[in-house]
Amino acid sequence: MKIIFFGPPGSGKGTQAKLISELIGISHLSTGDILRDKLKDGDELSLKLKEIMSSGNLVSDDILNKIVADKLSSNECSNGFILDGYPRTLTQSEFLLLFMKSKKFEFDIIFNFKINFKIVEERIILRSENEKRSDDNIEVIKTRLNKYMEETYPVSQFFGSEFSDKFFDIDASREISQIQKELMEIVKKGRKLGEI
Ligand code: AMP
Repeated sequence: MKIIFFGPPGSGKGTQAKLISELIGISHLSTGDILRDKLKDGDELSLKLKEIMSSGNLVSDDILNKIVADKLSSNECSNGFILDGYPRTLTQSEFLLLFMKSKKFEFDIIFNFKINFKIVEERIILRSENEKRSDDNIEVIKTRLNKYMEETYPVSQFFGSEFSDKFFDIDASREISQIQKELMEIVKKGRKLGEI
């Protein structure tokens, strides 16, 4: 199965993407996690990445497109994959759709997490205490939410109109278990339709 998760930072899509990937046994590709892992390299690129990420801005499309193309072509993704945090810009989405076409891949499900930004701000403050992420503070979260509205929201709208039969709006203000139940019901229906 091939699934995309859209949603603003702090909407809980990473948590849900991880749970679903474990439940159905497919790779979870969180571009945020992959980039945070690269920060540990301590080389020149990692210093640049750190500066961009901790300010809440987006890393260049070229870097992201390469990371994702390499991952999606690897054995790790032969059973399917969940994209979490990508595509985030129209350029990334054009690249991804061309890549999918060249591999004759099709998306099965697109989840679009929706949440009030006030709730996001509260959650991020809480997460900063638990996870100690340098991009989890109130000024940076405002930049990240603005970036989401300017760059990623239009991408999610585009996927919503292009793939309307596979696109599901999810109320992300609810409990983790409630959201998970709804996502799994949609995944199971998708599987019954033989779309794996
Ligand atoms: P996330 O964990 O998905 O919120 O990502 C953390 C940070 O990594 C973002 O604020 C961006 O700086 C960077 N990042 C992650 N995914 C992307 C992407 N698809 N395009 C550009 N930057 C990204």
